[in-house]
Amino acid sequence: MSTNSKLNILFAASEAAPLIKTGGLADVAGSLPAALRELGHDVRLILPAYPQTIDKLGKVSTAATLKMGGHQQPIRILRGTLDNGVPCYLVDAPEYFSRQGNPYLSPNGHEWGDNAERFALFSRAIIAIGQNRSQLKWQPDVIHCNDWQTGLVAPLLSTEPGRPATIFTIHNLAYQGLFDQSTFNRLELPEELWTLHGLEFHDQLSYIKGGIVYADRVNTVSPTYAKELLTAEFGYGLEGLLSHRTDHFSGIINGIDYQEWDPNNDSRIPHHYDHHSFQLKQLNKQALQRAFGLPDKPDALLFGYIGRLVAQKGVDLILQVIPGIIDRGGQVIMLGSGEAELEQAMEEVHQRFPKQTGLFIGYDEDRAHQVEAGCDAFLMPSRFEPCGLNQIYSLRYGTVPIVRHTGGLADTVIDVTPETLTNGTATGFHFNKATGTALWGAVERALDFYQHSRSHWERLAITGMQQDLSWASSAEHYQALYIKALSDLET
Ligand code: ADP
Repeated sequence: MSTNSKLNILFAASEAAPLIKTGGLADVAGSLPAALRELGHDVRLILPAYPQTIDKLGKVSTAATLKMGGHQQPIRILRGTLDNGVPCYLVDAPEYFSRQGNPYLSPNGHEWGDNAERFALFSRAIIAIGQNRSQLKWQPDVIHCNDWQTGLVAPLLSTEPGRPATIFTIHNLAYQGLFDQSTFNRLELPEELWTLHGLEFHDQLSYIKGGIVYADRVNTVSPTYAKELLTAEFGYGLEGLLSHRTDHFSGIINGIDYQEWDPNNDSRIPHHYDHHSFQLKQLNKQALQRAFGLPDKPDALLFGYIGRLVAQKGVDLILQVIPGIIDRGGQVIMLGSGEAELEQAMEEVHQRFPKQTGLFIGYDEDRAHQVEAGCDAFLMPSRFEPCGLNQIYSLRYGTVPIVRHTGGLADTVIDVTPETLTNGTATGFHFNKATGTALWGAVERALDFYQHSRSHWERLAITGMQQDLSWASSAEHYQALYIKALSDLET
């Protein structure tokens, strides 16, 4: 198969921006298919038909109906088109997906009790399309599965003749889709899959293992996270299995949507700028300080944080360094929602320093753009980070990232060292240990740098803005992966 063959690709995910989003997977599923279409492939997205997803897709029609075992009513496949031109199928099984709120959690924050059934059905619908058992008159050469919600596709498809090639992308190994053995029986999965070499994982049914064991090619979202997953520290007991598949396992860094995240053409920020007019960023800083009730202080180094408030993100480390930042005349703005304890801890620190910290608890895309545009530096002290998007948005917005040296953070931000300063490649600050002290070391280096020479700081920020962080090059890596998977299938 040559690189100029046009492929039919079915891109399967449980969320995709702008239709439905809880995290980075949605950003990828919302952008990568469009970048692959730019390369000439016929890529179609498939998602569950959550109510808000149907609404946001706008005009939809019924493209097919599927008869599925155990379901009285046929499952409808709705079809619409995203604004970026990507055709989108929605698997409309109202008893499973017609619920308000989060795709995975009920309003009380617990996982939906029938998640195993919901995503088994989703996977079976993907297979029906993959094997041309629907009336779509379109069959993929490749099915690109993402995370545990699509983990049953590759194992259930593996024994079928004339099947498409399968890719499985791990966006975060911490989420695995683990269920008990009775669920395995209830789902009437083929008995031969219940083995150590199949879906069984310590007496549990593991959806993610299905993808890892059976997909033709497996990848994750950065080269460093791919290496980390082979170790006991990051592998959650799956490191042996992944090591066994190293020949078929790789890391491809995510890109970002250049239309959505462009400081020179972003309708959500008050003042547009690019690397030629970097000084205009200062106006966004002033607007942000005002919006969050902080005094106008053009020379205070303004740090930002955006993200889920969970232990993974190292939010507790940020809380530890805030008093030091304030002592040195800095300010901090935080935007996020998540675990109740962390939300409360953030509230407390904000109440303690109301004039030096700004806080918004909640999910707010407008504010996310304004924080990226207005802050000088961005804190991302994740304990682990498969790829991470906010540090990439920060680079694009000239907001210098301060990151833990892990996963995609290590791959996208170049640490300030005498060497990287001399050769002009430095874009941010790294630290190693997941401790408040280590984070403080990096924060202090940033404060020294900013306070010592504003023009050097500007150089750092502008170097970040000039990186190519678009999807174009990542999409070429995925294209190469599809071709490898197809040739695996042929041999
Ligand atoms: P993860 O997938 O682990 O949550 P990523 O950095 O890969 O982390 O992606 C998170 C995405 O969600 C980014 O697009 C980020 O801007 C967005 N995001 C997270 N929390 C918020 C929030 N409170 N408000 C707006 N956007 C948010």
